[in-house]
Amino acid sequence: MFALLISLPTFDLFRSITPPPVLVAIFGLLAVSSADEWHYPTPESNGVIKDPEHWGGQCDTGRRQSPIDLTHKAAVRGDFSPFLFSNYMNPIRNAQLANTGHSVQIDNSDPSVTLYGGGLPGKFVLDQMHFHWGSEHTVNGVRYGLELHMVHHDARYKTLAEAAAVKNAVAVLGVLFHVANQDNAHLDVVLETSDDIRDVAGKSAPLKGRLSPHNLLPRNRTAFFRYEGSLTTPTCAESVIWTVFTESLPVSLDQVELFKTIHDGAGHELVNNYRSLQPLNARALVYTTDMTMAGSGAALAPVTTLVLAAVALVTAGRLW
Ligand SMILES: [Zn+2]
Repeated sequence: MFALLISLPTFDLFRSITPPPVLVAIFGLLAVSSADEWHYPTPESNGVIKDPEHWGGQCDTGRRQSPIDLTHKAAVRGDFSPFLFSNYMNPIRNAQLANTGHSVQIDNSDPSVTLYGGGLPGKFVLDQMHFHWGSEHTVNGVRYGLELHMVHHDARYKTLAEAAAVKNAVAVLGVLFHVANQDNAHLDVVLETSDDIRDVAGKSAPLKGRLSPHNLLPRNRTAFFRYEGSLTTPTCAESVIWTVFTESLPVSLDQVELFKTIHDGAGHELVNNYRSLQPLNARALVYTTDMTMAGSGAALAPVTTLVLAAVALVTAGRLW
């Protein structure tokens, strides 16, 4: 998740030292190349990843890392107020699709696209959306074809970079996509544009059509997993409140295969870009669902109906 952040602290560090410009240029290049050096492990020829990534720093030493396996067995029941989405129906303004070398990403510059409620501690602004193929989170051990991350920062901070340094000041919505027969028409605009940026990491192109964040959200936004975790790319900062919806959206096999042809910074096909599963450790994993759709509410409904019917019959009998 968001690689652009990594170079910022490095840049600030070198600027504060203020050595001669030539040295700045040399060290700057070294710093950028080392910061960008991280990569996803290449799967074996049988598709299995043998050795998980070793990215160093907090990625290796953290205790609230992401992604995790989302299991109903490990989860506790939650009940949050509904999410309130503002301006998610609007197409992203001046939308560009960027090949970051680790994913494809669409940035949002409109601060009025905001998320509120759903148990989040305030208002969050949408920064960007990007994809992982296959999914980073698994549900009861099952991996999905694709996972979309909608990355937001707490509106009390100016930027995502600033918020990423603060506990729970970043909110990411995860949307899972299951492989189905039909193409997902809302992903077509992303994949058609990816033709223009496929081979070159760092390249951007205008999106070849409209894309509203709303169209990439599931219909049921009351059923989701919630936990406190991290960015899933270096620096793996532990600042993220995660929401992963349980309703998945369809994606065709052809569409998944197209994502896999996007090239990384080394010019190789990015066959997959998901981080290995991290331990839950002492964290609470919360599962919430609409009380009127499932659980005690649904179980009580037929009983109530039967009682009412019996009362009606008795009353009718008395009348006759
Ligand atoms: Zn991500």
